[in-house]
Amino acid sequence: MSHAKGKRATGARGSAPAPAIPRGETAIEQPEWRAFVGRWLAIAGCAVADAPRGDWQVELSPTLQKRWRRQHVRLVFDPARPTVPRGAWFSAPGSSAGRRILEAALAEPAFTRRTALAQVPGAPEDGFAGLCKVRGLTWGSARLGPVRYERRVAFHAVITRWGGLPWQEQWVVLVGEGGEVLERAQAPQVPDVRPREGLYQMGEELEPALRERWLQSARETLEALAREREREWESAVGRLRDAELERLGAFFSARIEEEEDRLRRRVGHDEHELEHGDDTSLKVEWERRAGEVRQRWEMRTEIRLWGLEEWSWPVADLEQELKAGAVHVKLRGPVDVARGRPALPACPNCGAPAEMLVRAHSHVACARCATA
Ligand SMILES: [Zn+2]
Repeated sequence: MSHAKGKRATGARGSAPAPAIPRGETAIEQPEWRAFVGRWLAIAGCAVADAPRGDWQVELSPTLQKRWRRQHVRLVFDPARPTVPRGAWFSAPGSSAGRRILEAALAEPAFTRRTALAQVPGAPEDGFAGLCKVRGLTWGSARLGPVRYERRVAFHAVITRWGGLPWQEQWVVLVGEGGEVLERAQAPQVPDVRPREGLYQMGEELEPALRERWLQSARETLEALAREREREWESAVGRLRDAELERLGAFFSARIEEEEDRLRRRVGHDEHELEHGDDTSLKVEWERRAGEVRQRWEMRTEIRLWGLEEWSWPVADLEQELKAGAVHVKLRGPVDVARGRPALPACPNCGAPAEMLVRAHSHVACARCATA
């Protein structure tokens, strides 16, 4: 009864956990996983072709041929498929082939160089107007400066949770040239960008100190991320563990009660002694099983870096005027041209990113400056 759930701990199939539990190695295929495997196979030098029923036929790279002792493999992703072709690998996340793929991917971080393609137009026509509200002021027309390319580095990592239901998440952290974290996303790759191979308008030589700073920054971010995920998982995993302990408790309480009833009905026995003896062994067994449950649900997280990407990223400055009568203020801010997305403009008074700008006497300022 209550054991069915625990046994499934490592399985990829079975009923989906309750809605409050993060979704993952359940019955439905995860498109992110397929994307991750595809991308990694390409980086690793394998040739992937479509096969019937959504499978992939993979010609392995020489390294992987050696590692897996075969030249090609057919990958089946659909976790609901009742049978797989002979020699094919059932490779949903959490399956043994899924783990084998992940292990190979984590063996050494793949390194690639890419360029983010610029969007046309590089910024929205209304400039900052879409993201920064104004009161008592009107926006003038926006002017986008020349596009330049900045170096960015993406760190790809897998965060794994062991214990209870094993769980894996793909994360990507994008770091700027100075080591500052620009964005992080739960995705196998940097989202919303069209890449091209190679670094555009950028030398490939880098100072080792710079690389060190990037690594440091990525490590800190990933560790903070893992702690954050752990806190969230702890409550979800704790609920599952407590539910299992509760079922175990109900089972043993019922057994103890039955045993006591049975003993009460028997005549001519030294009831007290027997009852005491059986109660004790049931309680010992209950305690032992509860200990096993707690141990099985004990959580441990692991972060593994599987890929590094150096990017050449298009950016530009956006200039736009704010007007109110005689007051004319020019605002400037950076634009991510790969996404056509400006950052918030800086407040002309305090320099902080402003979500709203208002008239303050004969000047323009953010809401905070205006009320100070
Ligand atoms: Zn301000």
